[in-house]
Amino acid sequence: HICTSPSSSSSSSSTVDSNGRDRVINLDHGDPTMYERYWQQTGDKSTIVIPGWQSMSYFSDAGSLCWFLEPEFAKEIVRLHKIVGNAVTEDRYIVVGTGSTQLYQAVLYALSPPDAAEPLSVVSAAPYYSSYPLITDCLKSGLYKWAGDAQSFNKEGPYIELVTSPNNPDGHVRQSVVNKSGGILVHDLAYYWPQYSPIAAAADHDIMLFTVSKSTGHAGMRIGWALVKDEEVAKKMVKYVELNTIGVSKDSQLRAAKVLQVVTDGCKYPTSEEGSLFDFAANVMEERWKLLRAAVRQSGLFTLPEFSPGLCRFLNSSFAPRPAFAWLKCEAPIEDCEAFLRSNKILTRGGKHFGVGPQYVRISMLDRDENYDVFVQRLSTIHLRQSMQV
Ligand code: PMP
Repeated sequence: HICTSPSSSSSSSSTVDSNGRDRVINLDHGDPTMYERYWQQTGDKSTIVIPGWQSMSYFSDAGSLCWFLEPEFAKEIVRLHKIVGNAVTEDRYIVVGTGSTQLYQAVLYALSPPDAAEPLSVVSAAPYYSSYPLITDCLKSGLYKWAGDAQSFNKEGPYIELVTSPNNPDGHVRQSVVNKSGGILVHDLAYYWPQYSPIAAAADHDIMLFTVSKSTGHAGMRIGWALVKDEEVAKKMVKYVELNTIGVSKDSQLRAAKVLQVVTDGCKYPTSEEGSLFDFAANVMEERWKLLRAAVRQSGLFTLPEFSPGLCRFLNSSFAPRPAFAWLKCEAPIEDCEAFLRSNKILTRGGKHFGVGPQYVRISMLDRDENYDVFVQRLSTIHLRQSMQV
């Protein structure tokens, strides 16, 4: 999934390659390079220097439950959630992870009874994030097992339901769908930030996962955090991270602390022309969705999800969601949307990865301007290109 060559996404703004052929636009991954432009203009404010002797110990805060969590980073997580108002941090343990990907695995480990007769079922409503089934089953664990679409799940006994809200890939705000006892909910809130979704209220769930990858755009830092109510669950998550990687890079946590500090300060005391990170990203997303909807209308070959506006208590305005992915449906007679777009040199991820049919694809909305612009331009004229090929 991740480890394919990124060389196809050139940084040139030209629509063609050096041979005069259409350049390949790779929007398969959700790589958040759109954010580089914001961070470039913050200059030294977001720079840290780490001397050679610093961050050498395994330990960050030896006496605390999450002994590898940098206190400075924990402080900035709480400050950011408080100012944005997207999650309750009171009476919660913070567990840091190498991306929220590691925390997802830590959660599975923590919630699975060690001596159960059969593996714990893990479900999520389709279309679900394509990595969930792959990560859940990659080591063929005896503790837990992917059990597919939550909507058709009817097995007796305990289970874990993943609730991704707003959802990857389709952007909808979600609630749990399995209506049975014995379930434990895990809320993946990677996209519950004001650039993507109105912040209606502070999320107040038992287990909530967040990541810098989609909030500030620093996917390469590999930092995520979990807000966990139950002490025993938090302790077992910490144990997993200890067994898996003996903690989380301190260098990354210090950098993450700095980046979150700049974001929160930018919300409190807006100085730059572009405003806060959220103002910047909200404007880019709003503009990109407008362009995409116009291109889809012009082509007449596709449809997109529709969203109703809602009040955002952070940005103090009403707007419709502008998700990090476009969940595009090819209308008949196109059957395989991924193959159709690939033939037009647009790389996307097909519906089958998300538990649905091939008429759907997921398209990243977070790439650099020069790629996004070529993409929408190409999409808007795709019907003309097709008729020329016939
Ligand atoms: N959850 C969801 C819903 C995601 O979309 C992603 C990133 N694509 C992740 C988790 C993983 O994030 P990280 O980079 O922090 O591992």
